[in-house]
Amino acid sequence: MHKSRLAVAVSVLAALSAPAALAQSHWLEAYREPARRLIDASSSPFAWERLAELGDTFGNRLSGSENLEAAIQWAADQMRRDGLDTVRLDPVKVPHWVRGAESLEIVAPGRHPLVMLGLGNSVGTPAAGIDAELLIVHSFEELDAAGDRVKGRIVLFNVPFTTYGETVVYRSDGPSRAAQKGAVAMLVRAVGPAGLRTPHTGSLRYADGQPQIPAAAVSAEDADRLQRMITRGTSVRLRLQMAAKFLPDADSFNVIGEIRGRERPDEVVVVGGHFDSWDVGTGSTDDGGGCVVSWEALRLMKKLGLRPRRTVRVVLFTNEENGLRGGLAYRDRYKDQLAKHVLMFESDSGVFKPTGFGFSGTDSARRTIQDIATLLQGIGAHTISANGGGADIGPSVQAANVPALSLDVDGNYFLIHHTPADTVDKIDPKDMARASAAIAVMAYVVADMPERLK
Ligand SMILES: [Zn+2]
Repeated sequence: MHKSRLAVAVSVLAALSAPAALAQSHWLEAYREPARRLIDASSSPFAWERLAELGDTFGNRLSGSENLEAAIQWAADQMRRDGLDTVRLDPVKVPHWVRGAESLEIVAPGRHPLVMLGLGNSVGTPAAGIDAELLIVHSFEELDAAGDRVKGRIVLFNVPFTTYGETVVYRSDGPSRAAQKGAVAMLVRAVGPAGLRTPHTGSLRYADGQPQIPAAAVSAEDADRLQRMITRGTSVRLRLQMAAKFLPDADSFNVIGEIRGRERPDEVVVVGGHFDSWDVGTGSTDDGGGCVVSWEALRLMKKLGLRPRRTVRVVLFTNEENGLRGGLAYRDRYKDQLAKHVLMFESDSGVFKPTGFGFSGTDSARRTIQDIATLLQGIGAHTISANGGGADIGPSVQAANVPALSLDVDGNYFLIHHTPADTVDKIDPKDMARASAAIAVMAYVVADMPERLK
């Protein structure tokens, strides 16, 4: 509410400052027509159908899997068919973690299977599993206060989801914090809003110098059940079995496609997302959708014969989920060219109705981005918020202070995030179209405008 009042006040001030307003409209006017054409061309269900084909054909795409590598080859092939000028695969060595068979059950009192998902990068258990008494805590402070009671236990962090940032720390750091106190395995209440007994996986981060213990997520419903049993004074024994392990690093690639700039091809606008996913569901919101809507920006430009002054490059990064090696490899490979990266954009918050963009950069660049966003008023994607960026573009953005943009969307991203329910049917083709249009207009204008964004 306050934000929109502020926006109104700012636009009234801008209108009162006539010379500035005239100067602005002069350069932006030239982009009304191409923006309208890009928005019109995006309205077909092409993007959604491409995402559906990706998920239906290749399924989930964990780093090191045959699925991911086959999907990468398919994407490069499809980019060539789209007629992009340059399509190439930049090699990246990626970690190769495999889940294997896994299960969790209550073994006393009574035997009851629970719904679980091992955490990415976890070690496995011995073949017979780990059989131990359950200890539930609700914070790191409570864990520390439990002292010797942690020893030999399976610890459950039963922390209801608030925001991802606040809750994910129990998934990432919980295993080593529990191991430090002598726990033999760690469970975390799934990091996401409660939803139909669905556990959420995601990566953990073992701390140096601590024993590595196996770790898994349990559904919110099962965490509540275990909590009720403990609160009632029942002592609960669990058995966790996980065959998770690492294989040697595998070959993978970042997929690169370009529309070469007509005047300044060495200046680059990057758009993209990460093509790998967790090994459950089909990685459609995280992040197949982000990849496809970014890629769609280039396909639409090509289809309409729009060749901007500067190069627009789509990057489908590999290995965001359990290593970030794709984003790091991009930074290293292009380190001498990052100074000529005009803008980097990432979509990795799901594809829902786009509301605009998050932006990080200078104040003058922000004003230009805000001006360009007025071209997206018709589809409601014109709000520019603070803090743009993304995990994959992060290393490059930081290395060269590149202006960073991300897609802002209106949707419940974390409901199906990292779950078997991350499938294309949750995504509205109209949202795919609007997101594609928003990215296409923004990328095209920034790549084409006379002055470089600064
Ligand atoms: Zn993601």
